[in-house]
Amino acid sequence: MTTRVALLGHPVGHSRSPAMQNAAFRALGLDWRYEALDVEPERFGQVLRSLPEQGYVGANVTIPHKLRALQAADEATAVAIAVGAANTLSFEGGRVRADNTDVEGLLAALRTRVAGAPAGMAALVLGAGGAGRAAVYALVSGGAARVEVWNRHPERAQALVADLQKLAGRSTLLATAEPSGAAIDLLVNATSVGMRDPHASPGPGEGDDFFKAVPLSADELDDRLTVVDLVYRHDRTPLLRAALARGLRCVDGFEVLIHQGAASFRIWTGMQAPLGAMRSGATNGED
Ligand code: NAP
Repeated sequence: MTTRVALLGHPVGHSRSPAMQNAAFRALGLDWRYEALDVEPERFGQVLRSLPEQGYVGANVTIPHKLRALQAADEATAVAIAVGAANTLSFEGGRVRADNTDVEGLLAALRTRVAGAPAGMAALVLGAGGAGRAAVYALVSGGAARVEVWNRHPERAQALVADLQKLAGRSTLLATAEPSGAAIDLLVNATSVGMRDPHASPGPGEGDDFFKAVPLSADELDDRLTVVDLVYRHDRTPLLRAALARGLRCVDGFEVLIHQGAASFRIWTGMQAPLGAMRSGATNGED
């Protein structure tokens, strides 16, 4: 019988995860199948509990269910608890275990560009939603010297900092209503600004006013900055376009997607993920 893995989200139609994970299963000759399920919030608990009996051994969870998934799980890893959200579930012996691979995905993708990052770096994180929380946790657990968090609604950045302060260790962690202007080495966009329907026609459109939505201008992108945009889209996000035009080191959201997917793949299968197959699956989008 085919082993099944689900993606639970609402909406899920545009996700690249099915193409990416099914390419990985095929590359390793596994009789496994990854299926996107559009689940409305009120049905989440019921759908989750019905998955094991239908042959599912695990799931990814995306917007808007990441918090709910953590709350519904029987057990959770220290990372998922610290971040306050789960993106990966595994089912065994009637129990649901929650994990968060967005943290590992960001660190692994960042380290393909900057060895040893983010140790000792000063970072600015834009966004304090689920991705912002995972990014801040990744940065402080990776030994960043200083992490500033900005969010459109500042109370959310303050809550994030209050929640994660005890884990910050030697990192300075602070919420900011306006970036302090202190020199930074690393900029992480964890807002959804720049996100776009992949079927939209090319050219300027929704999400292209990135620099109007955040307290930064393209001119402020300093020469020695590394830029991570968690948002991914084929024609590159406005932030990545501006950073590449200045010759900065960039980490594309696709790379983070691939590395978080690889960590989830390892949790479900116990095998190392075939990154090349996942990369072509994610970028081609063909399942
Ligand atoms: P979320 O929890 O809904 O948070 C959305 C964030 O975007 C909040 O900080 C929100 O600010 C901000 N935002 C939305 N519209 C804005 C605007 N017009 N101006 C300024 N800020 C705005 O979503 P999430 O889970 O954190 O995901 C954020 C993005 O990261 C999404 O695009 C997602 O696809 C991407 N992501 C990528 C990966 C990957 O593997 N590449 C992994 C996880 C997430 P407020 O709090 O003020 O509303």
